[in-house]
Amino acid sequence: MAKKKNTEQPAAKPAGGLFTYAPAPESPAAAGDIASSYGHFIGGQFVDSSGSEALKTVNPATEEVLAEFAQGTEEDVDRAVAAARKAFGDWSALPGSERAKYLFRIARIIQERGRELAVLESIDNGKPIRETRDFDIPTVAAWFFYYAGWADKLDYAGFGPNPRPLGVAGQVIPWNFPLMMLAWKVAPALATGNTVVLKPAETTPLTALRFAEICRQAGLPKGVVNIVTGDGRTGAALTAHPDVNKVAFTGSTPVGRAIARQLAGSRKKLSLELGGKAANIVFDDAPIDQAVEGIVNGIFFNQGHVCCAGSRLLVQESVQDELLDALKRRMSTLRVGDPLDKNTDIGAINSAAQLARITELTEAGEAEGADRWSPECELPGTGFWFRPTLFTGVSQAHRIAQEEIFGPVLSVLTFRTPAEAVEKANNTPYGLSAGIWTEKGSRILWTAERLKAGVVWANTFNKFDPTSPFGGYKESGYGREGGRHGLEAYLDV
Ligand code: NAD
Ligand code: MG
Repeated sequence: MAKKKNTEQPAAKPAGGLFTYAPAPESPAAAGDIASSYGHFIGGQFVDSSGSEALKTVNPATEEVLAEFAQGTEEDVDRAVAAARKAFGDWSALPGSERAKYLFRIARIIQERGRELAVLESIDNGKPIRETRDFDIPTVAAWFFYYAGWADKLDYAGFGPNPRPLGVAGQVIPWNFPLMMLAWKVAPALATGNTVVLKPAETTPLTALRFAEICRQAGLPKGVVNIVTGDGRTGAALTAHPDVNKVAFTGSTPVGRAIARQLAGSRKKLSLELGGKAANIVFDDAPIDQAVEGIVNGIFFNQGHVCCAGSRLLVQESVQDELLDALKRRMSTLRVGDPLDKNTDIGAINSAAQLARITELTEAGEAEGADRWSPECELPGTGFWFRPTLFTGVSQAHRIAQEEIFGPVLSVLTFRTPAEAVEKANNTPYGLSAGIWTEKGSRILWTAERLKAGVVWANTFNKFDPTSPFGGYKESGYGREGGRHGLEAYLDV
């Protein structure tokens, strides 16, 4: 097919070809009451900002404004850190078994209010309800349950007897898994006896603010969790605050670098979880249909807004044609559209800015000579959308093979030998994750040993479990979240 044709608006046609689906909408009302404007959550209360600037969060599927929220000032951050400091003494002095009760209670409330949180996350972020309902929110609850279990067992975590918390943790999170990133940061911090000030991302503050209500519902002592909203300026005020003992950041590599520079020479402990450009490697003996499912999950899950997304497919040359045919067939069945429809596979791109970035990088892919392909699919008229996209004829030097696109775009490269696969997989400044598809156990081990990636999945992809540490090498950051290792980031060891 000629390149030009693929980027044109396709004719309306139901995705899937064979079947059409009746709409199966979840009710937006299930999100519960969304206030027209929000302040910060400091010392157990919702309070107004000391400044007058307000930001708006939209539903990226409709561009409708959902709520206004405060742009946190330095003074707001200062108040929140003071509240966390004040709460730290009593909280850290509680026996672990008492802290655990609060965490278990929070986990149960998250389960009880799961539908509400799933719908709220879906409308604020744009991700499909199928994912928030079946993945995000259950994972959030699982994280709290898991770290609740550690709270009274810290003596046995391998860091010596009676390991001490660090103090006040300043946590800055991104928009791609808003409540899940909150859970990954808040649960281990609280279990280990720290108090927190968390800043959610500026396009997705609503579930963090709802979480503040859950903290109240759970009777969590005032000031143990504080939520300050705002953009990068608020984030920078938090990470720079002199009374913060620990900074945890997930987001882009440039901001991660800036924070590392800002903190150099300070006594703050820092963990960074930054971007990725993961290789998903398919060997010639891989079960093709299974691999196709894994590839689709690897790059189209959450619109590809996933730091560990399998954004580079490395396929052994001898099975390239068969695999790409099957992959294109499968991509043609992906349903793009209303995130609240239970049949939707790919929801809205989180923001106009992210859509512009994806568009720019895919245009660069074409300009540099790669071949672009997308299935036909109708996109809604308003909101931010991007078709699932495949690039073949990609060379290692292309921007689409090197830069994180953070969208539903897969770059395909080929290899002939296992050694070449490893070399290409590692040819990236990142090192967060990788996938291996082969029927041979020995080949899995041989390859995994040589991949410079924090997480390596074999014959699966994007599997997350609170018991399993997650984190990167090189420009993907340092420190681990999840598992016993995740406790270390919040303890003085
Ligand atoms: P970002 O790094 O700018 O934002 C992440 C968080 O950091 C947000 O809460 C933001 O308000 C805050 N922030 C921004 N500047 C800050 C500063 N100077 N100090 C402290 N906090 C600051 O990321 P983005 O602009 O939302 O996304 C840009 C790119 O980052 C994406 O295209 C993607 O490649 C990458 N990204 C990666 C992840 C990940 O999970 N690793 C998540 C989001 C974005
Ligand atoms: Mg939003």
